[in-house]
Amino acid sequence: MEYISTRGRGGRVAASQAIASGLAPDGGLYVPDAIPKLEDGELSGMLRASYIERASWILLKYLDEFTAEELADYAVRAYGSGFSHGDVAPLRFTGESTAYLELWHGPTAAFKDMALQMLPHLLTASLKKTGERRRAAILAATSGDTGKAALEGFRDVDGTKVMAFYPVRGVSETQRLQMVTQEGANVNVCAVEGNFDDTQTGVKAIFGEKSFAEELTRRGYVLSSANSINWGRLLPQIVYYVSAYCDYVSSGNIRLGDKLNFCVPTGNFGNILAAWYAKAMGLPIGKLICASNRNNILTDFMRTGVYDRNRDFYCTMSPSMDILISSNLERLLFNITENPELVSGLIEALAQTGRYDIGAELTSRLAGEFYAGFCDEADTMKWIAKVYREDGYLIDTHTAVGRKVLQDYRAETGDETSCVVVSTASPYKFCGSVYGALTGNPEPDTADTAAKLSKLTGLAPPEPLTGLDGRAVRFTDCVEKNGMKQAADEFLGK
Ligand SMILES: *Cc1c(COP(=O)(O)O)cnc(C)c1O
Repeated sequence: MEYISTRGRGGRVAASQAIASGLAPDGGLYVPDAIPKLEDGELSGMLRASYIERASWILLKYLDEFTAEELADYAVRAYGSGFSHGDVAPLRFTGESTAYLELWHGPTAAFKDMALQMLPHLLTASLKKTGERRRAAILAATSGDTGKAALEGFRDVDGTKVMAFYPVRGVSETQRLQMVTQEGANVNVCAVEGNFDDTQTGVKAIFGEKSFAEELTRRGYVLSSANSINWGRLLPQIVYYVSAYCDYVSSGNIRLGDKLNFCVPTGNFGNILAAWYAKAMGLPIGKLICASNRNNILTDFMRTGVYDRNRDFYCTMSPSMDILISSNLERLLFNITENPELVSGLIEALAQTGRYDIGAELTSRLAGEFYAGFCDEADTMKWIAKVYREDGYLIDTHTAVGRKVLQDYRAETGDETSCVVVSTASPYKFCGSVYGALTGNPEPDTADTAAKLSKLTGLAPPEPLTGLDGRAVRFTDCVEKNGMKQAADEFLGK
């Protein structure tokens, strides 16, 4: 299998090349030239398999240059001891037709670990396979969770250095503490005066600068990305959709072949795009429900076909979804049109005018696969409290956005198909808002609040989130948007 660019001028490359370079040379994103299918019997074969076995199985379908043994080895290293739940990504049922897919049992307590515990293995192996001798310099823009998960995934991995940039007022206190106390000899963290889109744009600009890349080559580095623009980041996320489907069947609540809907709290469109790939592989998925917070650009896009980022940006209590430029939409647009000229034109329009319009026909095609809705701050609070009261289950702010939009979907369409709500973070990661939802008194995200939440609910916080405020702060730098390159330059040794 080969990989091609969404903009059509990136040639055809092997998977290892796509993963090693992150972005295609024409500025597009790599996608597989054909989506592999789940053959008859494959799903039933996976029903009794472990998460690690399912991961090796799915990855092999996309990475034919890797052996099954190699991939099994990475899967053990990624999803073995680092996850506190034996099932890695368990389903938690609150009724026959509603379950939550808990993707936060990894080392940073949010779903980014599902990909970022795997990516370092895929990336270092890909660099070797492509004959690359330079060390990988990973730069990550983060709305809070990616940065920490990238730092943790790459920490002390031979032949890599990793640096996370975060918007100075755009992450929660827990997320900030997780990053600035990060251990490891090859890591760095830097705050940026701006929001997430500024931060992501800054990282993309560094990637786009040829002379900087040449200078880094002289120093023995190749730039690489841990953001979901990298195929190696998206691919491991397909696995948990297949896994969740298998577990739903095993629960007895649906039969093999029955349709299952997925509701995904969405920001950069990476997670829900992985669900779309799972569906395109033949996984029996009905509707994909795209849930946004008050930054509801995707809701408007799905409903009207107009993507317009000329709008106010809000900082919400679900900060990992405070995004107005959803990079991975580009992959979806390419996959449904297979027209790189059209995609290039739309992306160009977005850069020039901040907006594009895909027209009525494409919009109605999207509506066949996706439903989109959003949830404001008051409803986020309301749904955390409601789910806790009615189902005895504690969810975080992002997951609450998903649950509320699922309710809207069911009310609007009458579709009662069983649905998995993708639970993207531990409630303790956003404990101040969660505590506020249950008590009416929002608190800051501190260890003290986590202790109060634990006392109130009887649930212990995940181990990686305990004792954060007692750890030494290692990183205090904060730069202007246009100072990001210099910060990276200094970290990578003048
Ligand atoms: C990153 C993140 C999201 C959004 O995921 P995308 O892939 O960007 O759509 C949602 N919830 C949490 C907790 C996250 O960390």
